[in-house]
Amino acid sequence: MPYLVREHLFIGNISDAAEILQKGSTEITHILSVLSSASISFFSEWRGFEIPTKEIKKVYVGASGGESGSEDDSGDGGAKSSLSPEKILYSLEYAGQDLKLVRMAVPLRDMESEDLLDYLDVCLDFIDESRKEGSVLVHCFAGVSRSAAIITAYLMRTEHLSQEDALESLRQSCEFVSPNDGFLDQLKMFEEMGFKVDHANPIYKRFRLKVLGDSYNRGEKIDSSKFGADPGLPTKVVSSEGEESSNGEINSTPAYRCKKCRRVIALQENVVSHIPGEGETSFEWLKRRSGNLFNKSDEFQCSSIFVEPLRWMTAVVEGALEGKLSCAHCESRLGYFNWSGIQCSCGSWITPAFQLHKSRVDISTV
Ligand SMILES: [Zn+2]
Ligand SMILES: [Zn+2]
Repeated sequence: MPYLVREHLFIGNISDAAEILQKGSTEITHILSVLSSASISFFSEWRGFEIPTKEIKKVYVGASGGESGSEDDSGDGGAKSSLSPEKILYSLEYAGQDLKLVRMAVPLRDMESEDLLDYLDVCLDFIDESRKEGSVLVHCFAGVSRSAAIITAYLMRTEHLSQEDALESLRQSCEFVSPNDGFLDQLKMFEEMGFKVDHANPIYKRFRLKVLGDSYNRGEKIDSSKFGADPGLPTKVVSSEGEESSNGEINSTPAYRCKKCRRVIALQENVVSHIPGEGETSFEWLKRRSGNLFNKSDEFQCSSIFVEPLRWMTAVVEGALEGKLSCAHCESRLGYFNWSGIQCSCGSWITPAFQLHKSRVDISTV
């Protein structure tokens, strides 16, 4: 039986969902399925029965057009989701007896390395909408990790609770919930970003780079769509409204240039900041120095800046583990990269690391 968490909000496992999809429910009107596959065939493969469905829509990662979350992405150019562009974000369908239920399904595996953050906005919005129209069951396979992580995030956002308090509150309804450690870390980031997934936030940028590093270490080929655009090229970018604008029109964006030939090699938005001397897993600094990323002491202690991988980094695009970073125009040495990490002069380990020596670059505005 599903457990009641809040009015019109339940948590459960796959059996709970299967029963409602087969027999209907007097109370539940909406289902949020969080399984390794978004397809309804997951149920038939699991227990051998068919569930009638009628598709409402399928939304892929990176699809623009009014979806929550994607609006924020268009404004800041280099800020990207860590999900692959062709991956399904969610599907929405009518399901069950007389197609009376509305089911949203997101494909998410119960693994520490799985990217939970990028699904939160759509899941939490769906829960909100569903509770206005009826009651919603959030379920995964066991009802322990994935569904619990999403409901924890929901309680955090709606009740402004810390990760710990939200999880504790959920345990009052269902004592055995236990999101995996990777999800707990991501929920902490969600809290530190102010209960939203902000792609321009340094916390998210570091997370995105870590996801990229994990996938490189698993031997997956990193598609160049995952790399930042080359800020030295006069590329046209299409905004969400479909209007074209060029990078040159964006005024007073801080930019890093090759000291020798002045080619633009990185924009401020490409920089993945760290706090001098602190370990890569620490996010505590945001509380102390929020918005103060150009702190004088940073300049003093760190002899390098670290950026996301960019498309002018030929050796990176070719898949090397480590190597030199040379200017795409004059070929002078700018820095070094290593997917396994580099230690900054301040002592912090940056993993993976795409490092530009401050002595080789100038900062100015575009
Ligand atoms: Zn440093
Ligand atoms: Zn150069």
